[in-house]
Amino acid sequence: MSVNKDFFIPIRDFNYDFQSSGQPAPGWNESDKVADTLVPTHCCFCGVQCGMYLKVADGEVIGVEPRDYPHNRGSLCPKGVVAYQQVGHPERLLHPQIRRNGILERVTWDEALGFIARRWQEIQAQHGRDAVAVYSGSSMTNEKCYVAGKFARVALGTRHMDYNGRLCMSSAAVAYDRAFGLDRSPLPMTDIPHAGCIMVVGANVAECFPIVMQWIWRARDRGASLIVVDPRETPLARTADLWLPLKPGTDSALLNGLLRQVIADGAVDDEYVATRTSGWSEVRDAVEPFTPEETESITGIPAQRIIAAARLYGAADPSLILHARGIEHSTHGVDNCLAAINLALARGQVGKLGGGVSTLTGQGNGQGGREVGQKANQLPGYRHITDEEDRLHMAAFWGMDVDDLPWEGAAATEMVHLMAEGEIKSCIVLCSNLMVSLPDNGVVQDALERLELLVVSDFFMSETAAYADVILPAAVWAEDEGTTTNLEGRVIKINKAVEPIGEARPDWQILCELAGRLGKGDYFSFTGAREVWDELRRATQGGVADYYGMTWERIDAEGGLFWPCPEPGHPGTPRLFTERFAHPDGRARMFPIHYRPPVEEPDEHYPFRLTSGRVVYHYLSGTQTRRLGFLQSQAPEPWVEIHPSAAARLGIANEERVRVRTARGSMELKALVVPTIRPDTLFIPFHYGNKESVNQLTNPVVDPTVKIPEYKVCAAAIEKLETAAAIEADPPKVNFTPETFPEMFPYTVGETKGAAGKAH
Ligand code: SF4
Repeated sequence: MSVNKDFFIPIRDFNYDFQSSGQPAPGWNESDKVADTLVPTHCCFCGVQCGMYLKVADGEVIGVEPRDYPHNRGSLCPKGVVAYQQVGHPERLLHPQIRRNGILERVTWDEALGFIARRWQEIQAQHGRDAVAVYSGSSMTNEKCYVAGKFARVALGTRHMDYNGRLCMSSAAVAYDRAFGLDRSPLPMTDIPHAGCIMVVGANVAECFPIVMQWIWRARDRGASLIVVDPRETPLARTADLWLPLKPGTDSALLNGLLRQVIADGAVDDEYVATRTSGWSEVRDAVEPFTPEETESITGIPAQRIIAAARLYGAADPSLILHARGIEHSTHGVDNCLAAINLALARGQVGKLGGGVSTLTGQGNGQGGREVGQKANQLPGYRHITDEEDRLHMAAFWGMDVDDLPWEGAAATEMVHLMAEGEIKSCIVLCSNLMVSLPDNGVVQDALERLELLVVSDFFMSETAAYADVILPAAVWAEDEGTTTNLEGRVIKINKAVEPIGEARPDWQILCELAGRLGKGDYFSFTGAREVWDELRRATQGGVADYYGMTWERIDAEGGLFWPCPEPGHPGTPRLFTERFAHPDGRARMFPIHYRPPVEEPDEHYPFRLTSGRVVYHYLSGTQTRRLGFLQSQAPEPWVEIHPSAAARLGIANEERVRVRTARGSMELKALVVPTIRPDTLFIPFHYGNKESVNQLTNPVVDPTVKIPEYKVCAAAIEKLETAAAIEADPPKVNFTPETFPEMFPYTVGETKGAAGKAH
């Protein structure tokens, strides 16, 4: 189906807006309803995946009850307690729709699936297999993610398969894989109270992972010290022994500086370094230039505070570093994570009870999604699509010729540019909202407009679905069963509470039916998610992320199971690397990290560093949480945080509407004048769409290794609205271009991207 361009409205005037909805599901406050069933399951939102019970009455989800699960102990955050209101929400997508003459019309499943399959066959016959792409989401169960990966490689035969976890913590994944030989948090949350010092680097734990806080408080109750590294004085930072408010984008300089001071203080665990690691001498040499004074000049943190932090951290045993998007959303995200790992290894902490380093995964199934094969370079079990042996294994497992198994395709950030260039002609988007979540989203709009066929499977209309040629109504998490893998590497079981609303179907089922119409039904003859799980377990057997020993019954009975779990009698592996690392020689690898500044530094035109992030009331692109009354009423629109000294200099009052501008564009929003942010830094939450999206402003440059965008820092200006009008008439020039930073642009015009082995 060709796209009717008349339908599309430029993003800045685009009026698809569900800000006003915020309506909970009907019946949410009807006091006469009493639950007849309590269904044990988990929250659908962040990577913590808290245990909860869904209350069901007469086939409807009517509420939530606490569940004493090992990692959340009955606690839920503000998002978790209202997650259930999505299930019967009045704005759920109920029927398949096809766009005809610019209007979305209700059709039957048969019509919708037949139309998609026919168009894909035409497109692939004319332009090749790679002209159709799959862009998948990491909030789906492992079963759905597995089917998505298999569908791309087996049914479509396209190499362009990637997931939105690319935008989350893929840099940490690569760093852990390089350093440890395996990408997973090395320890469970329940280990945290054993730490003697916790250093939180670039993680707003209290807002983004509220339930992790109870484990940090337990450590504090036992006397642990706390260091927080963040340009904002986050709620956690307010309780810390030391807050290090660094300039956004200078993380690896600080981590190198801390390591240099640990060395100077004689706090390196020499025996551990000698017997369990390799690469130490290069690392030691690389951090030598980062004296406290030099580190202060780069990071803006006073030298004495750097020394104090190194001593607090260096004196504790065990000590734990927790990090998240603050250091991972960067053009040097992999380096930042490796610098944190170097510090933990130098102190001999990784593999200890309560010690080491851990990333806090943001998305519900960001961890499992890639382990089961929906990342561009990965096959189930954490096998690599560019590894001959792994390819042979998976081709044999799926019963296909290895020559038909596609190679690595474009990363999610690259895919969009291939769409804009016309190389990808069609894409199916599963449970993802590119229009809000990708940087420089004017480019994303161009890409979606250029597609001949955009298919979106989701349960709510989103800013991305608004561009779809075909919309497929998906079931929500409470309407299906399956597993997810949380930020600890704990595989947990999602249980079905109710039947799908309207004509909604689980994504795995939608993909299986499409595969049948593409002539590949024999490979997708699953009759339920359990059958998918059993194939998935076998597909991962013998791989790094081995799920084979886990049954749904064991997962439910044992409070989740940690991979690797290679045999049915295996207890799972909550704590990794206690004796050896996963590299063949059993050693962790240390890598020298050479500080590189952010791609955009402030200048006379853009004097601030703009950073973005989450708030407690919303989840990712807000497609779900902006519809839930309580959450929406608490944070109905974005704001820009600015320090009082900067606001006074510019004459900006609290709550005044201002304009924030970068080299990509500008947006108007409310100023929040707060003393809890560096005076040279601005912060905007990223959960909003269209004119309220901070991703109109963010820098699309990516980490050359893993293609994760530099969401966390770009140069920006902020103005009162009357000043902004004059500046818009004569905008300043951009201070970087693809010519000056070619390796950091996700796509360079004229170059074919997504070649095998490019992204990791
Ligand atoms: Fe738990 Fe995260 Fe859900 Fe909050 S959003 S209840 S922390 S899983």
